[in-house]
Amino acid sequence: MSNPADLAGTGAERTLIGNIADLTAVRDTEHLEFSLLKSLHQLLQPQDLILYKRHNDGHLLAEMRYTADGGDVQIDGLTVPEIIGQADFTASNRYTEEHPDYSLHLFSLFESRFYQVYLLVQTEQGLSSYHSDLITGLMDIYSNFCNLLEDAQKDQLTGLANRNSFDKYIKKIYQQVSQYSNLESGTDDAGKAPVYWMALLDVDHFKKINDNFGHLYGDEVLVLLAQTMQHKLRRNDMLFRYGGEEFVLVAECSDEQGAREMFERLRCAVEQRDFPQLGTVTVSIGVTRISPQMMPVTLLEYADQALYHSKDCGRNQVTFYADMKTSGGLKVAGGEVELF
Ligand code: GH3
Ligand code: MG
Ligand code: MG
Repeated sequence: MSNPADLAGTGAERTLIGNIADLTAVRDTEHLEFSLLKSLHQLLQPQDLILYKRHNDGHLLAEMRYTADGGDVQIDGLTVPEIIGQADFTASNRYTEEHPDYSLHLFSLFESRFYQVYLLVQTEQGLSSYHSDLITGLMDIYSNFCNLLEDAQKDQLTGLANRNSFDKYIKKIYQQVSQYSNLESGTDDAGKAPVYWMALLDVDHFKKINDNFGHLYGDEVLVLLAQTMQHKLRRNDMLFRYGGEEFVLVAECSDEQGAREMFERLRCAVEQRDFPQLGTVTVSIGVTRISPQMMPVTLLEYADQALYHSKDCGRNQVTFYADMKTSGGLKVAGGEVELF
């Protein structure tokens, strides 16, 4: 094992500084985590190196393993490893288990309002104090960056992902959907193409809430609305605060009927929530299917048209853009919109 004196004047110092530079250059959490794992892998040459992300409700969100061949991320079918349940971090952020042939070192890396991150290092022998200090230093850099990225990606009022995150997320979804559409039909994967839906949700008569109860109360309503909707969603559905009192939801659902029921459930959940003093608050929703043939800007335009159809039809309802199209467009008579 190396010590600081061994590193002096060698390429290892440059590698370490290069790794830190890589770590601080990234702008999203997934890259940040891989950068951290890569640096630690180079420095420690461990038998195993895994980063775990656990949601505050206890379930495991992701398991990222770094090997000499590169990385591997798993998000499905995960169970929380026993060592995480056993570890006690009250005295320090490190927990160690010595086994006859190897040692396990579990570090509590980062804790936010929503999730915790752990790092598991398996080595043949115990870690030297020099290596422990290095890990602690890199962990501090990682945790400072996580805080910065959290601030940049989250909406401060509701805690939901913000519009900036939506722009990045929708690009990822497009790449995923396009990949499948480029596959030759007839291949195994072609039939499994994921189907995503995008919805714009706008609070009905929100201005009145502000006018009658004040802006601060309006803010509180937005927080409660975000919580109400978030509770109704599945693990992989992504809800963003898109603007003032507008939200965007991106959800995967392979059958259209299922999607209709899901958005209807969401609308009902808001309608049924009792808001102190105020009573009922409702949202209007416009939905479109995400197709790789459409530009994101077109997608938003379609969802917006569907949303305004919901508003024009009396609010507190869900409109699918495809329904407007098949009905031959909107028929407006005497200021009222006739339903298709
Ligand atoms: P509609 O049913 O047609 O959507 O009516 P509305 O009153 O909700 O729509 P409008 O766009 O006229 O008003 C939205 C209001 O939301 C105006 C703005 O002052 C308020 N608003 C925007 N962002 C915030 C915020 O962060 N907090 C609070 N309290 N109010 C906000
Ligand atoms: Mg609005
Ligand atoms: Mg509104």
